[in-house]
Amino acid sequence: MEFINLKESFGRCHRVYFELSRKCPSIHEHPACPIAELKKEFDGFLDTDIILDFVKQLVKYESPCDISFHIYNEPTIDCRLLYLIHKIKHHLGFKNKMALRTSGWGLDKHVFKELTDMGLDWIMLDAYNEKSYNEMRAVKNEFQKSDVAIQIKKLILDNRLTMYQNRVRTLDDWVKDNDIEFYCIEAIKTFNVSANGEVNLCEWDWRNTVIFGNLNKDSYETVFRNKIEFFNKTKEGTRFGAEVCAKCEYLRGFKPTHKSSV
Ligand code: SF4
Repeated sequence: MEFINLKESFGRCHRVYFELSRKCPSIHEHPACPIAELKKEFDGFLDTDIILDFVKQLVKYESPCDISFHIYNEPTIDCRLLYLIHKIKHHLGFKNKMALRTSGWGLDKHVFKELTDMGLDWIMLDAYNEKSYNEMRAVKNEFQKSDVAIQIKKLILDNRLTMYQNRVRTLDDWVKDNDIEFYCIEAIKTFNVSANGEVNLCEWDWRNTVIFGNLNKDSYETVFRNKIEFFNKTKEGTRFGAEVCAKCEYLRGFKPTHKSSV
């Protein structure tokens, strides 16, 4: 795969994840979440201009890319959230879906209504325990709006905090066991913008060991070129473009191909 132009690059992108900050009021309740580690490196906010400019590019190039306020933070505590949703949907001409992923902090039916009135299409609620799951179900039941997707996920925080050190059953093991060749399309399919402006590999690489550029100083062209270079490495070299990928046990974003069919 080669870099052709920005239209094609934005066209390949399926979802952009904006990390608005690395702040979360539940930080002490979820010690298995990497956010406390991430805050040590950067504890500010993602520049609003970076978000708005990115959305302008999506609109300009008619990209099919959705937007998600996601990654390691609680987006509902950011005072820009309603402004951003409204601006993106009603002023920038963005037509695709906009999602919010939240642990449900401070959400009730009134906040739900405000978010969706502003233009939010999809809300993913992460419930970390039974109590929180039941609370979220109650809010969801109270909030009836047919054109908004509300998804509640029971989430067990996994071992990603230690995945860089620990030997777990890895993707590499799975490849060997199943005699399979495959490559990960995450670098091309998603665009992860960290709170400090860096564009990183994917949510699993929370230590940001793979950085494609920084939107505070690098052009989109540079970032996309770096993404393609990484992707080509995963296809042509070893199966994995980065050490973290060899330890990734989530099988996300992969296109498995049985060797016999190649
Ligand atoms: S293999 Fe895992 S860590 Fe690597 S890009 Fe894909 S999802 Fe991310």
